[in-house]
Amino acid sequence: MTRCYNFCAGPAALPEAVLQTARDEMLDWHGKGLSIMEMSHRSAEVVGVADAAEASLRRLLDISDDYAIVFLHGGASTQFSAVPLNLLGGKGSADYVNTGQWSRKAIAEAGRYCDVNVVASSEDTNFSTIPPFEEWQLGADAAYLHYTPNETIGGVEFPWTPQVDVPLVVDMSSTILSRPIDVNAYGAIYAGAQKNIGPAGLALLIVRRDLLGKAHDLCPAMLNWQVAADNESMYNTPPTYALYLAGLVFEWLEKQGGLQAMAEINRRKAQKLYAAIDGSAFYANPVEPASRSLMNVPFTLADAELDKTFLAESEAAGLLNLKGHRSVGGMRASIYNAVGEDAVDALIDFMRDFEQRHG
Ligand SMILES: *Cc1c(COP(=O)(O)O)cnc(C)c1O
Repeated sequence: MTRCYNFCAGPAALPEAVLQTARDEMLDWHGKGLSIMEMSHRSAEVVGVADAAEASLRRLLDISDDYAIVFLHGGASTQFSAVPLNLLGGKGSADYVNTGQWSRKAIAEAGRYCDVNVVASSEDTNFSTIPPFEEWQLGADAAYLHYTPNETIGGVEFPWTPQVDVPLVVDMSSTILSRPIDVNAYGAIYAGAQKNIGPAGLALLIVRRDLLGKAHDLCPAMLNWQVAADNESMYNTPPTYALYLAGLVFEWLEKQGGLQAMAEINRRKAQKLYAAIDGSAFYANPVEPASRSLMNVPFTLADAELDKTFLAESEAAGLLNLKGHRSVGGMRASIYNAVGEDAVDALIDFMRDFEQRHG
């Protein structure tokens, strides 16, 4: 068996140790004679798995009891509607920052429920910058401020956290767990699982408890955060297998030394890759250096005619999923937690070799 290096933006690489545990436990989970997938979500076993996952996540991100942790269906995109439905609380507007494709989608969805005040946009730089806070036009009566700390497609990331008087609501799908964060700075944090948490189909929400209980009357029960929190993520049948795998990923992160340790590795990986790109006249990254993503590194070749050859040759070398998003073109290497430093080293070696042969 050969496992390739997987640079997919999502669903992304999972830690090999996690997949091995899942394999070993597949047919007979902890001597119970059946798979965890085949058990009732009300069973002590599955409730235990969910509780352990939550406890591990609380330790990893140092989450206080002021915050509820809930696991939801529908990925991050479902939360684009859940955010206004849960947080407007009778107000008619919300502030949004537009830094790229995911911000845009969140803005479009929120527009169904309220007046969206776009406080700042980096569209004029083709989403290669983060708009300076001094230029933001905050609304007078916004229920919350929403932004996307890491834009997965553009590879642009906030190097700072805005300070505002309303709750901060963030789509952390592609940056959560890449390093420590101060959860207390946010009202609500949500993330699709398939980047740094686990398999697709699951979303994570960390929400300050005092923000619960304000959902719109027409908010479906399945999107109501309070319902989810009151039922400990078991209002209906949650994606139990995805939750189990997420728990294994959290456990794996703790074994690696937690998020401080991951942050060091992630910084080293990103620095190496950006240095290789910047040090060559053949490769380029369009993002302003201060706002470059730790997790998603887009790059172009000097001659776009070579894109196909680059992709074919990298794939043959066991470096998978380097194609950039269809809206941007070029290449993108997503280097999430489960993508080891050896993968980044192999990519850099390949890039140097490719440049020598084709540059
Ligand atoms: C991947 C991604 C999404 C979409 O996630 P789904 O789970 O497919 O809905 C949303 N926001 C960001 C920042 C992402 O990276």
